[in-house]
Amino acid sequence: MASFGSRSIVLVVLLFMGCVTISALAQPQTNPSPQNKSLQAKPIWSPRKKPAQRLRGNTDIPKIVSEISAKNIEATIRKLVSFGTRNTLSEQNDPNRGIGAARDWLYAEFQKAAAQSGGRMTVEKQTFEQAKAARMPQPTMLTNIVATLKGTQPESTNRVYVVSGHYDSMCSSPIDAKCDAPGANDDASGTAAVLEMARVMAKYKFDATIIFMAVPGEEQGLLGATYFAEQAKNNNMDIEAMFTNDIIGSSLGGNGVRDAKTVRVFSEGVPNDTTNATTPRGISAAVLTTLRTNGGENDSPSRQLARFIKEISEHYVPWMKVWMIYRRDRYGRGGDHEPFLERGYAAVRFTEPNENYQHQHQNVRIENGIQYGDLPQFDDFNYIANVARVNAASLAALASAPARPKNVTFPTGLSNDTPIKWDANKESDIAGYEIVWRDTTEATWTHSRAVGNVDTYTMKGMSKDNYFFAVRAVDKEGNRSPVSYPKAQPRRTGTGANPPTSP
Ligand SMILES: [Zn+2]
Repeated sequence: MASFGSRSIVLVVLLFMGCVTISALAQPQTNPSPQNKSLQAKPIWSPRKKPAQRLRGNTDIPKIVSEISAKNIEATIRKLVSFGTRNTLSEQNDPNRGIGAARDWLYAEFQKAAAQSGGRMTVEKQTFEQAKAARMPQPTMLTNIVATLKGTQPESTNRVYVVSGHYDSMCSSPIDAKCDAPGANDDASGTAAVLEMARVMAKYKFDATIIFMAVPGEEQGLLGATYFAEQAKNNNMDIEAMFTNDIIGSSLGGNGVRDAKTVRVFSEGVPNDTTNATTPRGISAAVLTTLRTNGGENDSPSRQLARFIKEISEHYVPWMKVWMIYRRDRYGRGGDHEPFLERGYAAVRFTEPNENYQHQHQNVRIENGIQYGDLPQFDDFNYIANVARVNAASLAALASAPARPKNVTFPTGLSNDTPIKWDANKESDIAGYEIVWRDTTEATWTHSRAVGNVDTYTMKGMSKDNYFFAVRAVDKEGNRSPVSYPKAQPRRTGTGANPPTSP
């Protein structure tokens, strides 16, 4: 307990420093000329400066971060492992062994969390019959556990953020329902993080709605997540972001590298093109042509989400590094964010920095003196708690902030200035908007400017040919939305009053 106490003091100090640094954003920056050499040097979040110009910031997020408990996460993981196997094809009705026991225990635990919410959180068993599939030898009942924490702002309550982990596990064979499959890392770690977030966050109020979810069937082909995403799409659910936490359990890789300070966040570049019914899993020629002409392949909504997570967590959880990986997932691997991406939702995957393949999808055994299997002894519960803190801070920031601006465009026309237009947000507590920009070769947004409560603004002396621009909304407490990148506009042809766009 004593060591936890001293860590708490360090945490509070670090959080205070985080509050100071966030204040840098409040100040409009001076208008740089395109030749300004300092452009690339100044980050948006200039560290440790101008404490006098502090924004109030979000006072709940530091509390949420400090309440996440590694001990609770450890207890959840040990309980999930105690069910022997959580293979999706395992026993449904045995109270002690198999996926049914895990399902019922999780349902009860999420209900306990909901009891702390003053009626704002409800827990549902979303049960469906999965038809025969590649890793599904016979039709099987699957149950997603879905805990919904309703947003309290009328304009935002239908805006939804989803955080998920998969509670099923597997040993060497995905259809072996009898072998022990402890799944302590894959994915009791993600499931435990989501349950802990639900426990802590149920007590707090957010403008928008957060769904905490534990799903089965991931190892069978992302089946639980696919069902949820399909239902959401059919019901026009406005999911603004989805996080999957999968294999966030260990800080020690199979390469011998110990890294307890880093979490990878995978985000895809070129998004699924849902505008054309004939390309449900691809990209239409028109969109591809626009990307080839104007760029923007590094500015999908999922990538803006990853940048948002990095900015937020480095301020509220500054001892953790968010390592953005600019790809959908690891080579040859997949996860529960994919069914969301396929349906046009922004989604990212959280995973530990160095995996150990002797502990994933392996029968528990000792071979040549090596322990195989996904056992709790290989988990780092403090690390998992820190990944949960990164998630929770980001989710709280998303659900406290306004929606990202819609219909951001560059009005057409050739100009050395860059006019930007967007639809005004609907929330009653909007304070205004910020334009962010970066050099085209930068990985993250480097500059921002507060432009007031307007729906159009011109960046004088800065051409859209030379920078990437985007817009975000800010509320009166200083909560910022993720950015919206301008919609692609088709290349103009013909003989209007404006000069032609070619060659
Ligand atoms: Zn997994």
